[in-house]
Amino acid sequence: MGTENPNRANTSQGLSANPFAPPRNNMPISSNPVVQSEAPAFRPTSVPASLSTVPSTSSTTPFSFPGPTVGTGAPGFRPMPPGRPPPSYGPPTTTPIPPFQSSNIGQPMVPPGQHPPMSTSLNRQHQIPPVQMGSPPQSFYSGSSNSNPPMSFQDSAYSASRPNMHQPAPLTGPPYPGPLRPPPPPPQVSYKGGYVPPQPTISTPFSSHQGSYNQAPPAATSSGPYVGNSAPPTGGMPSLVEDFSSLSLGSAPGSFDSGLDTKLLPRPLDGDVEPSSFAGMHPMNCDSRYLRLTTSAIPNSQSLVSRWQLPLGAVVCPLAETPDGEEVPIVNFATTGIVRCRRCRTYVNPYVTFTDGGRKWRCNICAMLNDVQNDYFASLDATGRRVDLGQRPELTKGSVEFVAPAEYMVRPPMPPLYFFLIDVSISAVKSGMLEVMAQTIKSCLDRLPGSPRTQIGFITFDSTIHFYNMKSSLTQPQMMVVSDLDDIFVPLPDDLLVNLSESRAVVEAFLDSLPSMFQDNVNVESAFGPALKAAYMVMSQLGGKLLIFQSTLPSLGVGRLRLRGDDLRVYGTDKEHALRIPEDPFYKQMAADFTKFQVAVNIYAFSDKYTDIASLGTLAKYTGGQVYYYASFHSVIHKDKLRHELARDLTRETAWEAVMRIRCGKGVRFTSYHGNFMLRSTDLIALPAVDCDKAYAMQFALEETLLTTQIVYFQVALLYTASCGERRIRVHTAAASVVPDLGEMYRQADTGAIVSLLARLAIEKSLSYKLEETRSAIQLRIVKSLKEYRKLYAVQHRVGSRMIYPETLKYLPLYGLSLTKSTALRGGYADSQLDERCAAGFTMMALPVKKMLKLLYPSLLRVDEYLMKTPTVSVADEFSKVCKRLPLVAESLDSRGIYIFDDGLRFVVWFGRMISPDLARNLVDEDSSTDFSRVSLTERDNEISRKLMGILRTLREADASYYQLCHLVRQGEQPREGFFLLINLIEDQVGGMNGYADWLLQIHRQVQQ
Ligand SMILES: [Zn+2]
Repeated sequence: MGTENPNRANTSQGLSANPFAPPRNNMPISSNPVVQSEAPAFRPTSVPASLSTVPSTSSTTPFSFPGPTVGTGAPGFRPMPPGRPPPSYGPPTTTPIPPFQSSNIGQPMVPPGQHPPMSTSLNRQHQIPPVQMGSPPQSFYSGSSNSNPPMSFQDSAYSASRPNMHQPAPLTGPPYPGPLRPPPPPPQVSYKGGYVPPQPTISTPFSSHQGSYNQAPPAATSSGPYVGNSAPPTGGMPSLVEDFSSLSLGSAPGSFDSGLDTKLLPRPLDGDVEPSSFAGMHPMNCDSRYLRLTTSAIPNSQSLVSRWQLPLGAVVCPLAETPDGEEVPIVNFATTGIVRCRRCRTYVNPYVTFTDGGRKWRCNICAMLNDVQNDYFASLDATGRRVDLGQRPELTKGSVEFVAPAEYMVRPPMPPLYFFLIDVSISAVKSGMLEVMAQTIKSCLDRLPGSPRTQIGFITFDSTIHFYNMKSSLTQPQMMVVSDLDDIFVPLPDDLLVNLSESRAVVEAFLDSLPSMFQDNVNVESAFGPALKAAYMVMSQLGGKLLIFQSTLPSLGVGRLRLRGDDLRVYGTDKEHALRIPEDPFYKQMAADFTKFQVAVNIYAFSDKYTDIASLGTLAKYTGGQVYYYASFHSVIHKDKLRHELARDLTRETAWEAVMRIRCGKGVRFTSYHGNFMLRSTDLIALPAVDCDKAYAMQFALEETLLTTQIVYFQVALLYTASCGERRIRVHTAAASVVPDLGEMYRQADTGAIVSLLARLAIEKSLSYKLEETRSAIQLRIVKSLKEYRKLYAVQHRVGSRMIYPETLKYLPLYGLSLTKSTALRGGYADSQLDERCAAGFTMMALPVKKMLKLLYPSLLRVDEYLMKTPTVSVADEFSKVCKRLPLVAESLDSRGIYIFDDGLRFVVWFGRMISPDLARNLVDEDSSTDFSRVSLTERDNEISRKLMGILRTLREADASYYQLCHLVRQGEQPREGFFLLINLIEDQVGGMNGYADWLLQIHRQVQQ
């Protein structure tokens, strides 16, 4: 449904009729025919459907792990293959939980007929005869006989028989310089003035200048030669303070006599600081939690754009959570119909102007003069403002939600629908995942949005696929097993998806018995692909959310995956990026099909071995979903995290069958979109489900050489079905001034938005290029930007060799460094496990600005004093002192202290070597003090423990989107300390990766050249 005006006469022209739609040939998307209209994507493969024979775990299945991968190391961390250099901070070698290399692995699976007890009407001995319903929908727009067809866009969003798959780099526009040649960057432009790669002499830390971070700088420089031998960096330029900040970083290029007091380096210890200019100049703008621009000063010319070396764009979080009392007002135009511009379809907003006594209104986006309908008419007062302004939130608020009338739907609004696809193979059972998951879902049944319309259904799978009849008249669900993986069909199509209120008893009975049903399952296979197709067939009538619980690498049928990424030699070659994208097109095709039918896919992956997150995550990436990765899940360790995150996923307010478009004023157009979604046309983002934890980024460009307007307006419109069944349009509007001056662009820059966009571009780039090239590109962007800035000011203000940067971008270099050290982008083979790396990438693509910044520069808090002290003033005052963030350097750690590291995804609680025994005794068992990997922090019966747990609780409540699992680490306990904490102290020089001071010096040197 999508289109926001399906009944308009010109709808068949749709987007092309929109004067602001980007021309087709500028589509930021690939035109690869990803989806065929005839659904041939699911050719049976040659895997034999084994009903009565025991499938062998032959050497071609991914389960015949060669020696090195079946390790004795800690779950989740594959041991190094022989010959691999150890990482600087490898995974801990202590083993909290024995891995599940149970002796069952490799044994034959459960013989036919021995399968779970619930099978009443059917069991796996019988092949279920195909029923009509089973065949997959043949074509999305073939006028199918489906009486309740999936929504389609007026301009036939899928008419090209290829959903415009959003294809990340290298075709998506200008974010990064093109492919770099093997002798890696810094490439092109900036250095033609004679950049000479420094000699790789040992005396300088810049031998890694060209982006080769693998090379560890010499030890002699690693401990901070910059500390304490410098003059204060700012004197002498008070008059310039408003223009820029500066650091004294040393003298001529090539020299190394820098004086740099690391204590004075800029650090975002207050977290995300939003620029005041966004709302300051245009007070009716929507709140920045919904929309942020990389700069609120829009360049007025192409030449200005080309000098602005940073991304020009926006980050949008359309459903961001609001503080209590600040809900977005809901406006119901009822019979009037929603007031929109006749020409460009902009929604009425605070920036439209009324004229002609109130009979006309001028569109702020395209300047069209529209008639005011009679029933929307109000006269104007002496200042030209409508007299009813006080009752018109749509004319005073930057964010409103319109109730959409019937013309905004082509079918009745869908009910909230949750479908679960659950791996029940041996590893899912043994890890405890099945039990925690079933309990959590059961506990959330009362809180699923949309009661009493909510629908629910389940499929489980191992080497076969198990369907469950949940009809309300039953007392127990009936299980049906389908073992023909080549020709999937759906038995009993009507009773697999049921109304939760009506079938509540059956659903609860199912969830109660699920763990025991499979408790003796020894099946090691995974028919994931065929099961996925089955889920698709069940869901395609309605759409909804598909939650996948995956423990075993898909091994049978279509979509089976193989072990890859274990080859050290691939890293650093042109083939490296291929490990980070799906090998089998099956996953992308399935994602495209799911999106078509309004299904959003969330992946929960739990494997203790390689599980190809790159492929599985594709399902979430293109359906607006999310990837949750619990490496080596074991319920003892991870149950709270899974419970919390699954519960949030199930109960957070969700917008269904949504599409989003961002419009902007004449002369400007959006050129590329970045995040987890699929584009349905040049500028329409398809989001089968969307919630408050998802953000999207986009870049824009000028269409004209020179902008003549003074202000550019942006309007985000999200058309969706609310869980209550109402069709709504959430609209956010903002204005930004057009400027002729690069300095003004810098003054109104927003580091948070820039970093969020840069991060997404970098992740996309890493899917097509080497990690090293990606990191270099980040650095190059920063260098170019500061170089341009320097050109503005250096000469006239005689800054000499000082490093200068705009106050608004003072944290940009540090965030850039963090990005190169993030799990998704850092190092090489040994520095992040491949699945972890890919999962981190999928996560970052969706993060809202504040969460992104928190992940890149986490909090480090010292808490021991607070724990020991009896509060003298007030608890709140004491606590606010605790929340003082510290620089992310090892020097911040005092061995008499206890610290909490919090990146929004996990906690690390660090115990200094010399903390008072009393403190330690009150927090953890003495006898476990030898091995912290086996200690979990729980609340004990004493004040100190209660206080510590209270802090953790408060930190978790501050942002509930993820649950921070707590890892305890003791000073000097290697490799745990290094793996969990030291490598994340991103200002330090660790494992061959730059420290902050080195990084700044490198950047400064390149800027000066
Ligand atoms: Zn207009």
